Amino acid sequence: MTSLLVTRIGELVTNDPETGEGPLGVVTDAAVIVEHGRVAWVGTAGSAPAADTHYDAGGRAVLPGFVDSHSHLVFAGDRAAEFEARMAGRRYEAGGIRTTVAATRAATDEQLTAGVARLVAEMRRQGTTTVEVKSGYGLTVRDEARSLAVARQFTDETTFLGAHVVPPEHADDPDAYVALVTGPMLEACAPYARWIDVFCEQGAFDADQARRVLAAGAAAGLRPRVHANQLGHGPGVRLACEVGAAAVDHCTFLDDRDVAALRDTGTVATLLPGVEFSTRSPYPDARRLLDAGVTIALASDCNPGSSFTSSMPFCVALAVREMGMTPAEAVWAATAGGARALDRDDVGHLGVGARAALVVLDAPSYRHLAYRPGVPLVVDVVGG
Ligand SMILES: [Zn+2]
Repeated sequence: MTSLLVTRIGELVTNDPETGEGPLGVVTDAAVIVEHGRVAWVGTAGSAPAADTHYDAGGRAVLPGFVDSHSHLVFAGDRAAEFEARMAGRRYEAGGIRTTVAATRAATDEQLTAGVARLVAEMRRQGTTTVEVKSGYGLTVRDEARSLAVARQFTDETTFLGAHVVPPEHADDPDAYVALVTGPMLEACAPYARWIDVFCEQGAFDADQARRVLAAGAAAGLRPRVHANQLGHGPGVRLACEVGAAAVDHCTFLDDRDVAALRDTGTVATLLPGVEFSTRSPYPDARRLLDAGVTIALASDCNPGSSFTSSMPFCVALAVREMGMTPAEAVWAATAGGARALDRDDVGHLGVGARAALVVLDAPSYRHLAYRPGVPLVVDVVGG
């Protein structure tokens, strides 16, 4: 087994405060030893032990691979026309999901797989080394199960989101659809999923329905996460906290009790600024959450309707510019925060024992991710 010495790292973000300075655990003029795909040693370049092979970072900044804890990559079709109409003044509504459902049902497994492969590769080029992928555009037993089987080829972080929206054929009887989701659909999907998710929002599923979905998922061995409080205030955030969800995602409209529940339970608030950007909506108040002591993750929510970006660097830049986060807070949320949202301790940091997924920026500092928005700064991904 060969060891790799990554050396001449101008600025290394470890997210390990015991290894370096501040919450990001920054080490300057650093080196990392990788063995068996794991970080085996971290320190200054001058004190690095010998290794079999070398990688010269040339004074650039290195950080842990991004952990994108929220994406919807299994779909077919394109909603550029809807985006254009929205930019001309039309409002975003949850029902647009149905457009993608029709295209996804009509696609072959090969087409769906090729689409996910393209987006996962696009993500990796931008530094994402762990991604969560949801179903939710099939909404039949067959189409949800095959969506998850496709997702499983690319990641272990797969989420059953049969309760994304009520499909048109069940519009007259949403409870019958919830019974399908919590019954035969869950049974077909659970073998391919780690997580259960529900869109608890006006126009999607109410609190009682969401509770049934999460309870059925838990009984099938899936762990809960929730989409909530995206389009208005609702019960989803507190429900997520109550059932011990690892994360509740969107969190745009929160009252003080929601914020207190997030702080007290440790449920991660995953903010998805690509959505607010792409729907021209008000951003969530990250500063309020951070000041209250809530753990924040940033994720892309990559999907064809409300946020068709795969770029975590873009999300970091938006979080800093639009949501009151510092560059350090945003980088932490896009790496360690995402890992918390997926309840993972092996990714999102570069402490000894972590999975060795190192992103090399063509920049001297992680700050450039926000300082130079839209610039392809990720020049290499080592390991991961
Ligand atoms: Zn989503």
